[in-house]
Amino acid sequence: MRPKLVIGNWKMHGSLAANLGLLTAIRNGLVDGGSTVAARVALCVPFPYLAQARSVLGGSPVAWGAQDVSEYRSGAYTGEVSVSMLADFGARYVLVGHSERRSLFAERDEVVAEKAYAALKAGLAPVICVGESLSERESGQTAAVVLRQLSAVVSRCGVEALVGAVVAYEPVWAIGTGRTASPAQVQEVHQVLRRWIAERSSAVADRLPLLYGGSVKAANARELFGQPDVDGGLIGGASLEATDFLVICQSA
Ligand code: PEP
Repeated sequence: MRPKLVIGNWKMHGSLAANLGLLTAIRNGLVDGGSTVAARVALCVPFPYLAQARSVLGGSPVAWGAQDVSEYRSGAYTGEVSVSMLADFGARYVLVGHSERRSLFAERDEVVAEKAYAALKAGLAPVICVGESLSERESGQTAAVVLRQLSAVVSRCGVEALVGAVVAYEPVWAIGTGRTASPAQVQEVHQVLRRWIAERSSAVADRLPLLYGGSVKAANARELFGQPDVDGGLIGGASLEATDFLVICQSA
């Protein structure tokens, strides 16, 4: 059985003062009365707060990571942050291809694949985000879109490399909208993704964590995470509230 995994995506929120309370509450809440929540948990924070995440979460069961990374190793790329810099701060995860990066910053499938490749080479787990827009869903293209996005990464990295990765299915129409995909819709897409991987490597398909993201809340997490191919969640808004996030982690 695959262990459940819950990853918080803080997006561009936070301050040193506010984060201290939130990180501490999540860290303490996960080790409640001496027993640790069974799910693996990580928080993807803005770059400047990686040092703070390391200092507060180091030695606890909560891992940390970043929300993006450069596809380049080093050099004249002003403003970029490399995988080795993330590794320097103990990051274990990095989101690649979040829909906000794809839509607002024109990140193409090939760039997402390069970022996933760079992360895997550095020993970080890329959280490869895939998902369809509302118009793509309504025109019956969901499977084609998510498989196109995933296959770009598999072409670049090879299917075997995915043992070190995580895939997050995040329908664009459900992110930050309060509109959650139904458990049946989520399971259907996760099954498509896992079968596609299984056709290439059943060993990788059995182990690959497939997360769902898109308006996961304390009230709907248990049912979503109860689907056979849902191995946890990528949580945006609700990861900024310790109480909600902790309930979601316990639901996993
Ligand atoms: C996200 O940002 O990846 C996300 C899923 O956001 P939310 O949970 O707020 O929909």
